[in-house]
Amino acid sequence: MISFAVIIGHTGKQRGSLAVTPISEHEYDYCHKLGFAIAENLVDDDIEVCVFQKDDGYKNVYDAVNQYNPSCAVELHFNSFPGGAATGTETLFTDKNFKNPRLAELLQEKICFVLDREGSTNRGIKHIAEYIQDKQIIIDRGYDAIKYCSVPCCIIEPFFGNNTNDSALGFRRFLNLATSISDGMKDFERWSFSNIILGKYKDIENK
Ligand SMILES: [Zn+2]
Repeated sequence: MISFAVIIGHTGKQRGSLAVTPISEHEYDYCHKLGFAIAENLVDDDIEVCVFQKDDGYKNVYDAVNQYNPSCAVELHFNSFPGGAATGTETLFTDKNFKNPRLAELLQEKICFVLDREGSTNRGIKHIAEYIQDKQIIIDRGYDAIKYCSVPCCIIEPFFGNNTNDSALGFRRFLNLATSISDGMKDFERWSFSNIILGKYKDIENK
């Protein structure tokens, strides 16, 4: 049985950054709605999905995700940058699981398509090491997902919540965004499956 995990970034106590109007919500609240819209898409396709939130009483939500053992997991966030001038989409990954860069590529491609991200607004996929500058940033942006998830996992940052145009995009294209993420996960599952068939994993793992 195929299953996917969706992790809501942040907690009810630390809700993440605040988006300007029209979203006017913190990451935690927006990502809840997004997470359940993604789950709805997957359930419609007869795919098992579990939505994890960090304040569900888990000692470590990522242990729970690993135990659930989905084909892949995506943790939902949106970006922010002081002054609100930054814009664009990026997807973060680590090399903890060798399939992570591929998951990041597939998600980034789908999200950029529905948000019309071209040129510099497609900020690309980024290895976490590019981001880790100080501890504050690590805590704020919830990098734990890609540190502790042993299943393929990425963090998505589809837009900058404190940029006026980006917030309008995240608001107006909410359903398209949800579909792009569920489609990206399904693409990943297809890619994984075709690689198993072709026996490619052995080669990759031996490198
Ligand atoms: Zn966040």
